[in-house]
Amino acid sequence: MGRTLTCEALLLDTVDLHDGDRIITFLTCEHGKKRGVARGAKRKYSRFSGQLQPLAKVTVGWYEKEGRDLVRISSVDLLRPAGRLQEELEGILLTGYLADHMIEFAQENEESEHLYRLLDSTLEALLAGVEANLAARYFEAWVLRLSGIFPPPWECPLCGQEFGADRAAVLPPNGDALLCAQCAGEGGTLPRRSLRLTPPALDFLRQIGRRRLVDLARQSPQSAETLAQVEQLCGELRRPFLGRELKSYTMMRQTLDRLGHR
Ligand SMILES: [Zn+2]
Repeated sequence: MGRTLTCEALLLDTVDLHDGDRIITFLTCEHGKKRGVARGAKRKYSRFSGQLQPLAKVTVGWYEKEGRDLVRISSVDLLRPAGRLQEELEGILLTGYLADHMIEFAQENEESEHLYRLLDSTLEALLAGVEANLAARYFEAWVLRLSGIFPPPWECPLCGQEFGADRAAVLPPNGDALLCAQCAGEGGTLPRRSLRLTPPALDFLRQIGRRRLVDLARQSPQSAETLAQVEQLCGELRRPFLGRELKSYTMMRQTLDRLGHR
């Protein structure tokens, strides 16, 4: 049995096949991540021409058959182009990183409303001018929260003491919980490679749970040091979960370091 569906979607990836076809990966609210063939999409005068921009928001129509991984794309209509995010190097690297998260963390054929809304609102905020570094940290931390692997930034789970203005938190090597310095074994002998989160970084982690990215961006700016701690924390949690690092992250980090900006 087959069925025809139409849905709002965010394009995550397009891969060229031989003879002019393209495989596209897209994310929807209701059906999660999907992959489909757009026949003849590479040809001139294709009905898909100009519509298949990475990270664009589109309406996509497809035909799917039970038991088949690949659906057949029948139409793609652009709702919101990725615009300058696909024109500048930093934007291309960042949006590739955002899309990569969805390819890894979103499930096929499973309702994915939270991930969809997160990516949609992050793209919207970036197009409105929100700073890339802030958006990336907000986004990566939220993906980990939605996946249930983000440690609570409120108190030490071992002794119950709240983290506060004078109490930093520590993520021990290979740890999955934030501990107070005492419980993490501090006292001159903090285990090597422990990640220390200062009160402003903890405050940032608490705020992302209750604020939209655009609202957070309007507040007083986060320091580079705070955002660097969040970036490091997310990496320390993401890598063991995935069993590796996202290629797009490595590429983005290396390129930005080479260009001399964070
Ligand atoms: Zn403790």
